[in-house]
Amino acid sequence: MEAAEFRRRGKEMVDLIADYLENIEQRPVYPDVEPGYLRSLIPEEAPEEPDTYEDVVKDIERVIMPGVTHWHSPYFYAYFPTANSFPAMLADMLSGAIGCIGFSWAASPACTELETVMMDWLGKMLKLPEDFIAGTHGQGGGVIQGTASEATLVALLAARSRAVRMILASDPQRPETGITSKLVAYSSDQAHCSVERAGMIAGVRMKKIPTEQSDKYAVQGETLRRMIQEDKAAGLIPFYFCATLGTTPSCAFDHITELGPICNAEKIWMHIDAAYAGSSFICPEFRPLLNGIEFADSFNFNPHKWLLVNFDCSTMWVRKRSDLIGAFKMDPLYLKHDHQESGRYFYTDNSLFRSLKMWFVFRMYGLKGLQDYIRKHVELAKEFESLVRADQRFEISADVVLGLVCFRLKGSNEVNETLLKRINNGRKIHLVPCQLSGQFVLRFAVCARTTESRHIREAWRLITQLAEEVMQDVTKLKVRM
Ligand code: PLP
Repeated sequence: MEAAEFRRRGKEMVDLIADYLENIEQRPVYPDVEPGYLRSLIPEEAPEEPDTYEDVVKDIERVIMPGVTHWHSPYFYAYFPTANSFPAMLADMLSGAIGCIGFSWAASPACTELETVMMDWLGKMLKLPEDFIAGTHGQGGGVIQGTASEATLVALLAARSRAVRMILASDPQRPETGITSKLVAYSSDQAHCSVERAGMIAGVRMKKIPTEQSDKYAVQGETLRRMIQEDKAAGLIPFYFCATLGTTPSCAFDHITELGPICNAEKIWMHIDAAYAGSSFICPEFRPLLNGIEFADSFNFNPHKWLLVNFDCSTMWVRKRSDLIGAFKMDPLYLKHDHQESGRYFYTDNSLFRSLKMWFVFRMYGLKGLQDYIRKHVELAKEFESLVRADQRFEISADVVLGLVCFRLKGSNEVNETLLKRINNGRKIHLVPCQLSGQFVLRFAVCARTTESRHIREAWRLITQLAEEVMQDVTKLKVRM
């Protein structure tokens, strides 16, 4: 394809995208296909001779769309949101065209510099402590990762490296393997599974801290303190704690104002995973949820979840860049350049120009536009919560703080599982469950940029209609027995 055709096809593609997104709610949100559906629709091998562009585009509706779960449909309420906005998509096009890989300043100065400055902009929007802002002379700063899972792992590896260095400094004869085999990390039993997996990848023990419904599923300082004391008494070395702000099951918030000082006193690296909830901290009314950040060594959240920056863009800040640089520094000759000395950049990842998406979105929405967007989602979640609370057959299973509502029919887990199955089989709306205190709970997360009150009311109409049917079936079964 030459530039002249690209101009034409590019405009057609923009139309196709706009049509898709404008009409998305007419499509069933969840696909009606069986595993392996796609293989039979396309050849076993890549074409020897080139296909035409028209043929490729025709296959979007024939091959791809039948198997797409439409995350940007206003009827999508599963998982947590994934961001999508036109400015971010346009920036992604430009990023693809520039196509640089920003592993060092010299690899593309604008790429690394914009990333550092955008991380400062965002850090200031969140009112992060000064320690986390790079500026021109700061010791800390931010770097974009692909996912929150990566950020958790990067923090864990940096913490492991720091712990080993600290112990060797006071006991140089101690064998390194003897240290790593004693290391122990902690996270909540509500933490995302990526935290446990990070422990597996890093080859360190990861202990889950139990939480209780009565404490709103938040890790309590006393519980962490007790586990640390027990582990130290057993000869283990506590070195890392991953706190969660906005857990995946119920959007619970660990008490970092209480947990942070314990970690600091024990020289334990505290990482904060706020993958979903982090975006809300740009609103002054939600910022108190981040109080205690001043005790953290690293903090991460996903603008690609809730801040209108398309995947992938997971922002991670550290108090001391040297902790990351020290852990992962590689120095081959081909990466050396004339401006090495500044040490301002600490890219651990071969990213495309991801900061361009942030720059476009932040400028075109402004802080106010982004705050309005977050507030609207929270209001929609509160509207859904009110509908649930007004229906005696249902109960709310966890506090609704942001855009997630956890709810269930009063009754058995089986009844709720049947309800969810029928909801998803209908393909009009899509939800996923979670388990809270042994109960099967339905999660309703406001996700799409275009969700309005009418979608929420329509979703509730469908849910209650199906609930009525499920309850009638249960009654019939009981009568028969
Ligand atoms: N942490 C939390 C609290 C999450 O809710 C999620 C995903 O929803 C993740 C981590 C994983 O995020 P990612 O897919 O960016 O790795």
